[in-house]
Amino acid sequence: MSTIPMLELHQVSKRFVKPLDTAARIARLAGVAAPQEIVHAVDAVDLHIARGEVVGLVGESGCGKSTLGRIAVGLHQPSSGSRRWKGEDIDQGSIAERRRKQLGIQMIFQDPYASLNPRLRVLDIVGEAPVVHGLISAAEQRDYVAAMLQRVGLDAAMLRRFPHQFSGGQRARVGIARALAVQPEFLVCDEAVAALDVSIQAQVLNLFIRLRDELDLTYLFISHDLAVVRHLSDRVVIMYLGRVVESASADAVFEHANHPYTQALLASAPKLDARKTEFVAIRGEIASPLAPPSGCHFHPRCVHAMARCREQQPLLAEIAPGHFSACHLNEQR
Ligand code: SF4
Repeated sequence: MSTIPMLELHQVSKRFVKPLDTAARIARLAGVAAPQEIVHAVDAVDLHIARGEVVGLVGESGCGKSTLGRIAVGLHQPSSGSRRWKGEDIDQGSIAERRRKQLGIQMIFQDPYASLNPRLRVLDIVGEAPVVHGLISAAEQRDYVAAMLQRVGLDAAMLRRFPHQFSGGQRARVGIARALAVQPEFLVCDEAVAALDVSIQAQVLNLFIRLRDELDLTYLFISHDLAVVRHLSDRVVIMYLGRVVESASADAVFEHANHPYTQALLASAPKLDARKTEFVAIRGEIASPLAPPSGCHFHPRCVHAMARCREQQPLLAEIAPGHFSACHLNEQR
């Protein structure tokens, strides 16, 4: 079996320039310099995902996890860093080569209704891309889409329906069928079950597990829901302020969390309204990239914060086999 990771993100960063507010625009018109604010949504992240792995990417709103997922799937170009697919640079090569590599990675979005064109029938929503990319002929489209619907647990007869004629859980399945239609090997699932009722969530999670086994899929599963991540993931990566602060097997993270931020997330979990809210219990105490903290840049509320934490960004270090954490405390142990 190949030891080359399926997907590698190397020192990937993404910076967004915040639009000027009205006052700043007026100041510019008057010839007064108004500096633009830059948000570091993702900051020098390394992430390697092996074939068949399910990696859970966890963090509060605004930590950069969705931006990282969009970089992985090619919806955002990184400001710096590189992406590799089975050892090849995704952004190098001819247009046909780049498209081939890119087709291998597909995304499943949080809101299936918003991501499905309301004017198209499922036949076209699911069947258009495989025809365009030459995976099937136009004559094969109907049978192909029918098979895709059955694969995700929908009735093949539904292919003439529009998105509004489905329930939320069914729309989620249509979104999965659309992603599978171009025969990907890797799915980035961005809060893919967050909009669903708890009972439907369980059904869709079981579908993800079944599809992984049947199609040999690899997942990057982005979620704020620790219960979902624990249920599904082999490995868990914790993001905070655009950086990875801890990465380990799911058991290691949930049984022996090392980083104070991870510990705060796990401690807050019982206070959460099971699956519908984000980390309300700690939100407001922990800064986000949109509201950078003063004082200790890295983790302002950490009770262990040392003087050097204010000056120096801790780097990820291996604290046990396969368990990485970025905290200066580990250097003292
Ligand atoms: Fe706390 Fe410093 Fe560790 Fe950050 S690096 S978690 S501030 S001790």
